[in-house]
Amino acid sequence: MTHTSYLELSESAIKNNIDFIRGIIGNYTIFSSVVKGNAYGHGIKAYCMLAYKYGVRHFSVSDANEAYEVKKTLPYEDVTIMIMGMIENNQLPWAIENEIDFFVFEEDRLQNAIETANKLKKKARVHLEIETGMNRTGFVPREITKILKYVEKHKEFINIHGICSHLAGAESISNYKRITDQKKKFKNVKKRVKELNLVSPTYHLASSAATIRYPTTRLDLVRVGILQFGFFPTNEILVHYLTKEKIVENPLKRIISWKTQVMDVKTIKAGQFIGYGTSYFTNQETKIAIIPVGYSSGYSRSLSNKGKVLIRGQRHKIIGTINMNMMAVDITHANTIEKGDEVVLIGSQGDVEITVSSFNDSIQIINYELLTRLPGNLPRIITK
Ligand SMILES: *Cc1c(COP(=O)(O)O)cnc(C)c1O
Repeated sequence: MTHTSYLELSESAIKNNIDFIRGIIGNYTIFSSVVKGNAYGHGIKAYCMLAYKYGVRHFSVSDANEAYEVKKTLPYEDVTIMIMGMIENNQLPWAIENEIDFFVFEEDRLQNAIETANKLKKKARVHLEIETGMNRTGFVPREITKILKYVEKHKEFINIHGICSHLAGAESISNYKRITDQKKKFKNVKKRVKELNLVSPTYHLASSAATIRYPTTRLDLVRVGILQFGFFPTNEILVHYLTKEKIVENPLKRIISWKTQVMDVKTIKAGQFIGYGTSYFTNQETKIAIIPVGYSSGYSRSLSNKGKVLIRGQRHKIIGTINMNMMAVDITHANTIEKGDEVVLIGSQGDVEITVSSFNDSIQIINYELLTRLPGNLPRIITK
């Protein structure tokens, strides 16, 4: 099957970003590469292969299906896969059999894990998630003694590989108080676990934002997602980093480009509507190029009459509404543009660039959301 558009992943950008993360966390903290949401839209298969090539051995995903994708891509002994979120009871046997690490945040799952491990005669590799203030999932701190004593009774079937929590918005200074409280709670849990002296887990707390902003949260392992793909979680974190390091240039590189080609070129007389309905009216004779990408490929309809694309090294504005599989751009004032010319939806061409964040400005969605909307079935091509 052929596709009307494709994604390019820059291998040198991936290496650059991984090196940057390593440089920050140093040699004693494990870098867990978070590849949920199909590696933030980049594609688990393509991304994980390259991350592995540049030394990443620990991957975090949100559910068992993604864990399965990573396992299929990297079926190697030295790779650890950790499920941070959903796992169905009927997926537990697969996870335990394949030595997948997984978060446990309530007793039912803990019990199921122990029972399943018992049947399989294999130890479950569990990370106990602690509720420190995100108010999403996790055991409350005062349960921890009880849980660890319970685990101790079944220790042939369960291994507490980790104790962890998740911070609620380390990317914004407005959450400073909340984050500080969470850090304190987690520290107390750590102290209690040490005193009990029953397990020696890996402690982890930080995602991208905290890794940059709160160095003391790095602990034994960091779960880093968005930084790998060349984005700071927020502009605030970027500015914080640049100021602290006294540098001006963003040290990260964007990995992804999204490209297609001109499908047709035509000239529309003055006084016509273009495409469905009446959203664009030609005040003058208008030359348009038709692009074979629409909202079914993840190109948001809210970019109708707003978005821009690059053709022959120039920006061109989208006119009319974005259709399911097509859109039109205004090329009236462009140099010659022909059917088959390369079109860049995200990425650069010549000296001009369309960044993922430039989308955000026009339609108010965050990098995370735009990236994860990129369809899983678009071809991913690795470039230098
Ligand atoms: C998504 C996620 C991360 C990674 O977040 P980034 O901001 O992309 O670094 C870390 N931990 C958990 C539990 C997550 O769900």
